[in-house]
Amino acid sequence: MNLQPPEIRIDLYSDTLTKPTDGMRAFMAQAEVGDEQKREDPTTLQLEAEVCKLLSKEAAIFLPSGTMCNQIAVHLHCRPGDEIILDCTAHIRNYEAGGAAALSGACIYPLDGDAGVFTAAQVEAAMRPAINHSPHSRLLVVEQTSNGGGGTIWPLETMEEVSATAKDHGLACHMDGARLLNAVVETGITADRYAAPFDTVWIDFSKGLGAPVGAALAGSRKLIEKAWRWKHQFGGAMRQSGIIAAAGIYALKHNVERLLDDHANAQLLAIGLEKIKGIRVEPVSTNMVFFDVGGLGQTADQFNEALLERSLRVSTVSATRCRAVPHLDIMKPQVKEAIDIIGEVAGGFLGR
Ligand SMILES: *Cc1c(COP(=O)(O)O)cnc(C)c1O
Repeated sequence: MNLQPPEIRIDLYSDTLTKPTDGMRAFMAQAEVGDEQKREDPTTLQLEAEVCKLLSKEAAIFLPSGTMCNQIAVHLHCRPGDEIILDCTAHIRNYEAGGAAALSGACIYPLDGDAGVFTAAQVEAAMRPAINHSPHSRLLVVEQTSNGGGGTIWPLETMEEVSATAKDHGLACHMDGARLLNAVVETGITADRYAAPFDTVWIDFSKGLGAPVGAALAGSRKLIEKAWRWKHQFGGAMRQSGIIAAAGIYALKHNVERLLDDHANAQLLAIGLEKIKGIRVEPVSTNMVFFDVGGLGQTADQFNEALLERSLRVSTVSATRCRAVPHLDIMKPQVKEAIDIIGEVAGGFLGR
């Protein structure tokens, strides 16, 4: 049975909700295309070249999703029995259907970081001894920004420290840069500086950048050449992908700087929510606002249900925590309205 989706006027579920704008659609429609698997799609090649330049890497490969970027990177770096060191909140660990184990036979060593950011000392302490009993410590993963950590920005220095420690022990380093450009616009530190300590790094076009689909993984020529094989094996090789690659090109040109609007809206939302009794707001660094509704005696799901009745949606990330993410399709008046609705719903619960 197909359920009718609820009518949602203000949807703060995720920045994945962004819909291609008229300008983006027009640009996509006129894209030159060819057979991508034969590396004959000019628009896809152009996007890959732009990503190389942005990240100062030798090569890049266009892929259907960020998840595939992560999984191909894990496959490039790890053999079965190898271990990945990452933060316990990492997307690779929690939201990729166990892909690292299923597709690459890798195990995971989760670190208990601070809002998704761990230290070189924690990496050092996680290193396995070179004995036959232990998995091989093989890959370090950093997520910029940290999604599960609350949209936190990794300081460049901390990134450099953790990757230096990992490299000292012979590990490869990978950056899940789904929202790398959110960090870039917020700090003014260029994407290639953030990317420099990493063997592989990728950015997502389908989150705040507003493209309907697509991500690109970058690294050395040698690694990306190998990635082409796994792209075929994982079923990610495409045909006339220029239609969607064009959306990525358009997004890099038009939708990067405006991520700051999302960050401003997130701050506005956080300031509004802080004034609401029974709600505890976590610090906001970029485009995500995490808040806890336990003080209202409600679960996050119950609270979200009540918001849905008012045509507002957020996402729920644990028993009592919610996440709201302003994006391309959310304007300031809607943020203000969202604050009012959340305040009224919360007041209703407290009044009972
Ligand atoms: C969304 C996301 C991914 C996966 O990207 P998809 O394009 O949805 O497959 C990976 N890592 C992080 C941090 C994400 O937020």
